[in-house]
Amino acid sequence: MHEMGIANSILEGVAAELRRRPGSRAKKVGVRIGKLAGVDPDALSFAFEALTIDTALTGLKLDVEYLAPRGRCRDCEREFEVCNYELLCPGCGSLATECISGEELEFTYLEIEESEGEMDSGESNLNESARKSMEVERR
Ligand SMILES: [Zn+2]
Repeated sequence: MHEMGIANSILEGVAAELRRRPGSRAKKVGVRIGKLAGVDPDALSFAFEALTIDTALTGLKLDVEYLAPRGRCRDCEREFEVCNYELLCPGCGSLATECISGEELEFTYLEIEESEGEMDSGESNLNESARKSMEVERR
């Protein structure tokens, strides 16, 4: 299952980030997925849940942002959002267009909670969120 591999890559990224921040707990992870990446949202949430349940990451939320693909017209250079796989330029009606995005698969952020009291670092930063732009490994 394709989505199982993606969920696994996301969790590997989360685990790597947590290793850099001992004592913290991941609450929510955000990913951005292009609609052309061929990822089924339901299958991904299912895989994510199956992989986190009864682990140290139980309860971790997955926040998926699905991006509409974008196309670009070679004639008038206009960029536009592709609807229903229709690649006709909305500006000049040309068919000389190409897909420029829609297959993204990347981390957007990781929200973590620092554990209280364990670390003596003065003020503790609760609910700190870290923005990552790590590329999720494709399978
Ligand atoms: Zn055009």
